[in-house]
Amino acid sequence: MEIYIRGLASGYEPEHVTRLFFRPALLAKRWPARGADAVAVLRGKKRFVCGVRMNGLCAVRTAPLAQDTPPEQAEYEICRLLFLLLCEATGRRPAWGMLTGVRPVRLVHDMRRAGKAQEEIESFFRDKYFADGEKYKLAVRTADNQAPVLALNTPRSYSLYISIPFCPSRCSYCSFVSRTTAESGSLIEPYVQALCRELAEISALARRNRLRLETIYIGGGTPTAVSAAQLRTLMQAVRDNFDVPAVREYTVEAGRPDCTTPEKLAVIKEYGATRISINPQTLSDEVLAAIGRRHTAQDVLDCFAQARRLGHGNINMDLIAGLPLDTPARFAQTLQGVLALAPENITVHTLTLKRASNLVIEHAPNAYGDVARMLDSCALLGENGYEPYYLYRQKGTLQNLENTGYTRPGYAGLYNVFIMEEVHTILSAGAGGSTKLVGPDGHIRRIFNHKYPLEYIERFDVVQARKQGVDDFYAKYADLDPETAR
Ligand code: SF4
Repeated sequence: MEIYIRGLASGYEPEHVTRLFFRPALLAKRWPARGADAVAVLRGKKRFVCGVRMNGLCAVRTAPLAQDTPPEQAEYEICRLLFLLLCEATGRRPAWGMLTGVRPVRLVHDMRRAGKAQEEIESFFRDKYFADGEKYKLAVRTADNQAPVLALNTPRSYSLYISIPFCPSRCSYCSFVSRTTAESGSLIEPYVQALCRELAEISALARRNRLRLETIYIGGGTPTAVSAAQLRTLMQAVRDNFDVPAVREYTVEAGRPDCTTPEKLAVIKEYGATRISINPQTLSDEVLAAIGRRHTAQDVLDCFAQARRLGHGNINMDLIAGLPLDTPARFAQTLQGVLALAPENITVHTLTLKRASNLVIEHAPNAYGDVARMLDSCALLGENGYEPYYLYRQKGTLQNLENTGYTRPGYAGLYNVFIMEEVHTILSAGAGGSTKLVGPDGHIRRIFNHKYPLEYIERFDVVQARKQGVDDFYAKYADLDPETAR
């Protein structure tokens, strides 16, 4: 499928609306060849035209459009016509309608801040953007549950992210820069040493700018892919440089049971982490094998039991809907299996296929309706007392569906809310880390670390020089009272 757009100042939105229906569709520079499957969007002087040709069948819609229509309104009108045409031509209606943004919950917060009534917000989702009622309710419920977490934020709040880009093996759907321990094991020790140096520098930066640390998150990759001794070294460096007992939340992704030993779980507990994540993705051995995981569902259950025995009282478990060989029935079984463990958080992702993954976008592993049916079984979470507390969407996600974090009352993962709603600065350490500076006025600036571990180790000073940008950023907020609420 090709997309041909002519006469629009920006074709960005129609292009993305088309990809809600035809995910790998590419933008064409020329009028599509005779007979080729294509979507065309054309704007003339007084009208616009949307057309689709699929399997030799064509459908076309046109509508008037005055020359002086403001660009934003014109783009919306064009997308609306295109969306309705593609719903009709394909017989599908995407659950989030024509909302293409990654943060639908932010829309709820923004509209509430602007004083919009609940009915106006509902009408925006359902009538203007054709989102279905359940998705609207999910977004609103998530926004409600986030409110007390967002209220913890102050103008000088920040969170610390520490990246460990190593994994025991590569999952077939992974697009992250993570390296396997087999191919890059010799890099781990110098990497941990460099990370410890960077933590000392970040700590100094935070102190200079009078920032207040709210949460710490050690993620990956798989942080437990490093040895217990290396994990101890890293967490000791965190303890040496930051006031760990004062942070509101300290998460370590224990990730995969094929490298998370009782010894490492004990180190995580000893060094003050308050939350861990054990991520089965699925409890089907067949699906685990299909995605390249070298562990069984039983290993996940054993790892969870060990973590509980060692006193971990706040555990998240990640699941993915839409994995190869998975089915709605199996997914529901996975969900029931995880619910039986009663973890404090369950995060349900929808499979996202990116170019860097081994699964190819064009060969989506599940039938269209199946992924939505998998997410439908998340109703079980509500029935078991879990509430949605953060939600986001990604480009390339099957059916453009969402990722949602659910929590038992009182256990919402603070870091997840802070990063997703972009309410405060995230200072990142390690390869692939991205520091996101958020000013009290909402101004955002990003500083990127090197992407790969070897670059990060060898060009460490370059990264640190870039972090000078943190001082520059906060210089203009020098008069801010750290304790003043937003
Ligand atoms: S565990 Fe995560 S980061 Fe590591 S290979 Fe699998 S998907 Fe990628």
